[in-house]
Amino acid sequence: MKILLSTIHTFNYFGEIFLVTTILLLLLLLLSAVWMFRLSRTLNKTETSLHRDVQLKNRQIQMLQHKISSFDDARDGYLNLITNMSFVMRNVDFRQKIEDLAATISSLVKNILHTDVVEFYTYDPEDDVLKRVDGLGQGARGQVVRPMGKGLVGTAAKDQMIITNEYFNRKHLYDDGLPRGNGRLWMAAPILFDKRVLGVIAIGEPGSSNGTEKDLLSIVAQIAGVVLYHQSFLIRARHNADTDVLTGLHNRRYFYRMSRRFVEKATQEQTSISILLIDLDYFKQYNDTNGHDEGDRLLIEFGGLLRGCAPDDAVVARYGGEEFIVMMPNVSTEDAVRYAEYLRNAIANHPFPHREKQPFGFLSISGGVACFPNHGRSIQEVVRLADTALYKAKESGRNRIVAHSSYLFDADETSSGPVEGWIRTSRSSI
Ligand code: GH3
Ligand code: MG
Ligand code: MG
Repeated sequence: MKILLSTIHTFNYFGEIFLVTTILLLLLLLLSAVWMFRLSRTLNKTETSLHRDVQLKNRQIQMLQHKISSFDDARDGYLNLITNMSFVMRNVDFRQKIEDLAATISSLVKNILHTDVVEFYTYDPEDDVLKRVDGLGQGARGQVVRPMGKGLVGTAAKDQMIITNEYFNRKHLYDDGLPRGNGRLWMAAPILFDKRVLGVIAIGEPGSSNGTEKDLLSIVAQIAGVVLYHQSFLIRARHNADTDVLTGLHNRRYFYRMSRRFVEKATQEQTSISILLIDLDYFKQYNDTNGHDEGDRLLIEFGGLLRGCAPDDAVVARYGGEEFIVMMPNVSTEDAVRYAEYLRNAIANHPFPHREKQPFGFLSISGGVACFPNHGRSIQEVVRLADTALYKAKESGRNRIVAHSSYLFDADETSSGPVEGWIRTSRSSI
């Protein structure tokens, strides 16, 4: 019994130990679980934050890559500009027509800004408008014209600054709130020289934009400014060199330059060129009677009438003093004489001021006609012959036309007879 009790007691003791140990173990397990839970939460948080960091870094990398590619594009744009500049310099010939210059510059813009839409305008101060000149704007509806100060193109010119369509639309809205931009155009740059507007280059939106478009277009617009200015300068210089200051007619220099072309064409096509040399009769008397200024005015009015009466393809020039010359391609001697007679009559009938004080009672001319290649082998020789014919016209009384000829013919029954080697046409019947 004692042994049994002792055994039970021993069992109770171990049971308690076991219970305590179990409780301790359970507590330990619980603590571990709590710790594990907290650890996993901390780890989760760290992972989320790391993930966010990685995402942020990725985004920054992407932005940097985008920036690098933008810089690459920009560098390509500038390199393209430099490379294309030599092409432009080689192709820009200031003697070219404005359409050709505009086409060269437009192709430069297309190359460096990767846009298909390029419009080139020049400023016309007379009408205060910008006219499209790249040859593409002249469709069935005629030339595209943008008024100064209106639309994207007109505003860039008026404000003398490069503007985008977005900027323009923000500032200029119709009363109904709609934008007033020029449709497909995206940016417009004024072409300036010496602070004067010479035109505008406008472009459509490029395939991809890298932020350098404004700079590049501005550089091209500056180049265009130099090109346009020098071209117009050259045109003006050439016009001045070829034009008689007083009458606005061509001068002798232009006449001989054109004569080379006329002779070349006439030789190729086996046609003739007639030369009519005209001299005002008694012009010294006109000056002496009415004053030199009135003489100048008469020459101006005479020049206008002569130009108006000449065939379209003729060259009319002031040969010097009160002498004028008309070069008519594809016109025979006989037709030239007929034309000269018509002209003599038109001048005699024109109400020039003070005409009544002239010896004939009207303004009269004498003229000499000769023809290439029938009478001379060069224009110089033909002009010399026309001059001799003119001298004959003066000698035989003035107010008449005399033509050089290889045969004799007298059309004027009242005249003193034929002059050897010359056709003398009828004397004035006025
Ligand atoms: P003819 O009938 O023989 O041709 O006589 P003419 O008086 O017309 O010819 P002449 O050669 O004696 O005189 C030409 C005059 O033309 C003399 C000159 O002063 C004048 N003249 C030449 N150029 C100009 C000019 O630009 N303006 C003016 N007002 N007179 C000019
Ligand atoms: Mg004269
Ligand atoms: Mg003279």
